[in-house]
Amino acid sequence: VSLESRLRSIVGGAHLIVERDVLATYQRDWTGRFHGEARCVVRPADTEQVASVVRECAAAGVALCIQGGNTGLVGGSTPMDGSVLLSTRRLDVVGDVDSVAWQVTAGAGVTLAGMQRRVRAAGLDFGVDFAARDSCTVGGMAATNAGGERVLRYGATRAQLAGAVAVLADGSVLTRMSGLPKDNCGYDLTGLLCGSEGTLGVITELRLRLVPLLRARAVALLAVDGTAAALDALRALRESLPALEAAELFFPAGLDLVLRHGDLPAPFPEPHPAYLLVECADLSDPAEPLLDAIAQLPGLRDATTSADASGRRKLWAYREQHTEAISAEGTPVKLDVAVPVSRLAGFVAGLPGTVLQAAPTARTVLFGHLAEGNLHVNVLDALDCADAITEAVLTSVAREGGSVSAEHGVGRSKARWLHLSRSAAEVAAMRALKRALDPAGLLNPGVLLPDVQPS
Ligand SMILES: Cc1cc2nc3c(=O)[nH]c(=O)nc-3n(C[C@H](O)[C@H](O)[C@H](O)COP(=O)(O)OP(=O)(O)OC[C@H]3O[C@@H](n4cnc5c(N)ncnc54)[C@H](O)[C@@H]3O)c2cc1C
Repeated sequence: VSLESRLRSIVGGAHLIVERDVLATYQRDWTGRFHGEARCVVRPADTEQVASVVRECAAAGVALCIQGGNTGLVGGSTPMDGSVLLSTRRLDVVGDVDSVAWQVTAGAGVTLAGMQRRVRAAGLDFGVDFAARDSCTVGGMAATNAGGERVLRYGATRAQLAGAVAVLADGSVLTRMSGLPKDNCGYDLTGLLCGSEGTLGVITELRLRLVPLLRARAVALLAVDGTAAALDALRALRESLPALEAAELFFPAGLDLVLRHGDLPAPFPEPHPAYLLVECADLSDPAEPLLDAIAQLPGLRDATTSADASGRRKLWAYREQHTEAISAEGTPVKLDVAVPVSRLAGFVAGLPGTVLQAAPTARTVLFGHLAEGNLHVNVLDALDCADAITEAVLTSVAREGGSVSAEHGVGRSKARWLHLSRSAAEVAAMRALKRALDPAGLLNPGVLLPDVQPS
């Protein structure tokens, strides 16, 4: 009996996909840069089905690619040729919101927006948010330790995890869902799965911490002289605004693309060297404290603010439409790096030159999450120089003591450069963990540790 027939008997005929045209919708990543040919897509409905699928693939020695919303930007959810693609999207049940513990249980395939709707209806909120919210899944967010726009206040996804259920490569199931805030009994396996990018297990459920729902919000878009001025403004705003929740940086090149591909008027009568978008959220209206704090900022070139929902959305669109506007121009080489904020201004100034040395015709578009020194480096018109650009930029990041992957993960695209951000001893410990939990190398081969292949 073929593997496909055995998988069909686990998930039912409707959820085992072998038709080429339907398979195609799962096989290319969001950026269009990565592609692989899966032998089939399997869509299990619960943890038990996931465990059975994993056991069948292990028995057949066939590798698995785990895919949530397929919004990852580092090729981690793209199948290796001949692998089985396990889609988590049917694991989409959200449990009752526990408004005493401030927690909720969510299936790994629930979208961020779907989860936000549920918990907001119960008067609470989730601490991580970003533009892919309608498609990315909470399982994918945990697997990549997604960051986003509120890390400044609430930390990345790891800080929101109170527990998980996961299926290991041999089909065994780890369950840690009590959600106890105090529970120190050995290794933190939930924390280990977070950021493991599908290489250690399939996350099927999550116990998630929630935060207060702060409906009173105010957003300001500030025009500043450059990165150093944006950092000065951020320092001052942080001191005077405990309600500060987001601080996003972008530049004229990115704004031009957003205006070209989106349906937005220019935010200011003339362009400026850099833009800082800030948001405050509180129980009472934060507009006045925000305006007062902005009025105190020295050297501001221009500013526009909004406290009503539609105005806030419009200001956020200038920042959130960057990723899509860049992709509308062509397939970019995408890097997602962080450097210490004390080095950020110098790094930003030197970056276009670093890229041009590797690819003389390239266009570099930068934006990022300012408080974490996290820059999204997008290089257009230079896909054929992808490796040279990656090498040049990531080496310069390492020189600054930065990280080659701030929030998107390592995936396939940056696996070769992991050593720039992790020591030989750290990579050896990662390999030992991978060997212990997935000795045959069947889960997401080629992701994170590039030379681990199915044996
Ligand atoms: C417009 C846009 C904006 C974005 N903004 C941000 C941002 O601000 N911050 C940020 O961090 N990211 C951002 N991303 C990247 C992406 O959305 C995140 O990495 C997200 O967490 C991926 O979730 P997903 O469900 O789409 O995962 P996928 O893309 O399907 O998978 C990502 C990785 O996780 C693994 N995986 C997925 N589900 C599971 C599971 N249940 N168990 C084990 N492994 C699993 C996959 O194998 C793969 O390695 C953005 C992407 C887009 C398109």
